[in-house]
Amino acid sequence: MPQENGNPRITVEKILKLERSTGFRDAAVTCGIEAFIERQLPSACSLVAGYAEASHFDRQRMIARLVDHLEGPPSAPSEAEITAPVAGLRGVGAKRGALLEKLGVTTVEDLLYYLPRRLEDRTRFASIGTLKPEDEAVVRGKILAVDQHRAGRGMTVVKAAIGDGTGFLYAVWFNQPWIAQQLRRGEEVDVFGRAEWKFREWQMASPTWEPAGAGREIGRLVPIYPATEGLTDRFVRALVERNLDAYLPAVRDVVPGDVRAAQDLPGPREAIASIHRPAGREAFERARRALAFEELFLLQVGLLSTTRDRAGVAHAGSGQLVNSLLASLPFPLTVAQQRALREIRHDLSEPVRMMRLLQGDVGSGKTLVAVAAALCAVEAGYQVALMAPTEILAEQHAANLDRLLAGLPVRVGLLTGTTSGDVDLRRSVEEELDLVVGTHALIQESVTFRRLGLVVIDEQHRFGVVQRSLIEEKGERVDLLVMSATPIPRTIALTLFGEFDISILDELPMGEKQTRTHWVAEARREAVYEEVGKALEDGRRGYVILPLVEESEKIDAKAAVKVYEELSERFSRARVGLLHGRLPAGEKAEVMTRFRGGDVHLLVSTTVVEVGVDILDADFMVIEHADRFGLSQLHQLRGRIGRSGQPSICFAIADARTDEARRRLEAFRDVADGFAIAEEDLRIRGPGDLLGTHQHGFLTRFRAVDLVADVSLMEAAQAAARVVHRRGVEPDTAAAAERRFGEVIRWLRV
Ligand code: ADP
Ligand code: MG
Repeated sequence: MPQENGNPRITVEKILKLERSTGFRDAAVTCGIEAFIERQLPSACSLVAGYAEASHFDRQRMIARLVDHLEGPPSAPSEAEITAPVAGLRGVGAKRGALLEKLGVTTVEDLLYYLPRRLEDRTRFASIGTLKPEDEAVVRGKILAVDQHRAGRGMTVVKAAIGDGTGFLYAVWFNQPWIAQQLRRGEEVDVFGRAEWKFREWQMASPTWEPAGAGREIGRLVPIYPATEGLTDRFVRALVERNLDAYLPAVRDVVPGDVRAAQDLPGPREAIASIHRPAGREAFERARRALAFEELFLLQVGLLSTTRDRAGVAHAGSGQLVNSLLASLPFPLTVAQQRALREIRHDLSEPVRMMRLLQGDVGSGKTLVAVAAALCAVEAGYQVALMAPTEILAEQHAANLDRLLAGLPVRVGLLTGTTSGDVDLRRSVEEELDLVVGTHALIQESVTFRRLGLVVIDEQHRFGVVQRSLIEEKGERVDLLVMSATPIPRTIALTLFGEFDISILDELPMGEKQTRTHWVAEARREAVYEEVGKALEDGRRGYVILPLVEESEKIDAKAAVKVYEELSERFSRARVGLLHGRLPAGEKAEVMTRFRGGDVHLLVSTTVVEVGVDILDADFMVIEHADRFGLSQLHQLRGRIGRSGQPSICFAIADARTDEARRRLEAFRDVADGFAIAEEDLRIRGPGDLLGTHQHGFLTRFRAVDLVADVSLMEAAQAAARVVHRRGVEPDTAAAAERRFGEVIRWLRV
């Protein structure tokens, strides 16, 4: 190890020369190049981060960069350079560039907006004598001894004894042999970590350390960045730190001044600085909110910029038909239904194209609201299309409509994959029908409408945007109502459906659901099926739900068949039915009809039953391997039973193998409200799993937004974006929205 006497720069240059002449073998100094630079030239350590593991080529490049660095400071970047690739920054290179890209960081701007996940308080100093087990603290002391040895499986262990006059502490590092060379006896260091009382001595496992008082990694609030394999949090921190001052002036405020002022939040330069160099938690949170608002605002602006022209046609009639329908019902609308219907009728009567999301838990009565809306349009002389994701659902809707509209002068038809070959039917869609219910078959080119005025899409998340616009294009300036039974937290609804208005049915017609949920360990499965046996004896009907386990539907179908056979044998006096994704549509429909009619008592089903199926009498459900389902999905499934308000019972059979699974199953057992479930799901799993793959990418682009907490911020951002959109978006803002969210918006739009 070269001594630090003389000019460190000259020492470094010598070593670099040696490293070069010996073929970049990381052998010029015993401790390795990275540790050496970290000691000699801390400001440049990010340039050689990961040197020991880097390829020969990358090492060459790192050394070249380091030599550059020694020769002079970088010139201040111009504004344009904020969009420069992060891979061009000193210390990044191809390999790390690729890893950063994996984290969503491709430009310098991305890096500035790459926010720490949390702050770690490394300011609490403790003397060893006052430590308590599990304390997280900084200890400052002298290195008394350093020992390096091999443990099992080729692992190296470096152990340093540190003393501060009040006691001794052993810092231990695994598989980082170079640390042994960096620690020198007699030197003072700061170590930060969790103190443990082990083998009658104080230990810290893999603590962060630096020379006492260096103040880089210890002694302050340290931002902790999301890292990835091969790219440490420490590297990201050093990279941000190195580039912050140079690039900060290039950050532009893309939120219009009046909008920004109304929020009373700091501008982006101040916010970015206090995020990466937090002075305290409060300032950090204020800065986070400022950046979150900016993100939400840009997203909303981006969404609005791709939204169709909203000029529309008034599609509402006098209300006679709707009134007749409502008068014919044996029950009044719930308050929530009345409110939603009022909102929809308002939209229909304005010459603005309606874009409305009708959201409500399973059984909240969305279909009825949609039908009432349809009647408004029919009465004004328009046709209405109601599109559902499966044949089962479409058929169910058609049957309900026949019942609801009996006696009203409304001609209803059904168009599905099974019926769409029928030329007469297709002609009648065009000419005679008022209300057409169907599946994807509705969007076939050969299907045309005489005068389509309103499109209703059930279970909207099962359709892509292309399918949505294909059906819309069958009319001129049609109004659009999309429905979702998946309660999603308001924060997510506001972001995913930024351009939509939202009506919520937050009330069940039957009153609170009377479903009790039991979480049962796998070992007690037998007891559950005894209960099932009793229920069947009593003439009750219910489901056994099997998760999708394999990649292949075929294998799942086989598993379902096996369970079906077992249960058929076991409950030989009841009739058991089977439903899975690979059954032909006709057979599916037949099983459902028999189940509905009471001819099948126990329905063994994969998750195809999930969507909207409405068998009012079913009142028990067994969910096998419930740990394999997401919380929201479990709740959807449970919504299939107790549909007429009768007491019902749900058994979730599962062993919780992870802490997360346990939280999920407990929440499923204890929480009945769909929106509360959705929020808990979001809290437990984050947005990805909640929404499924399709919409996921959208939300992962957020850096600062807290999807659980930022509701009011989102509402404010949406309102502000609508105002700005109407008055015209400034080029800077539009460009930023495109840069930050353009890709995901387009992706979501396909
Ligand atoms: P969703 O589509 O929201 O799951 P549905 O529209 O299928 O709910 O309604 C569920 C059941 O409740 C249906 O059988 C429907 O006839 C009935 N229903 C709808 N609205 C009311 C109401 N206001 N009062 C009583 N029952 C209702
Ligand atoms: Mg429905």
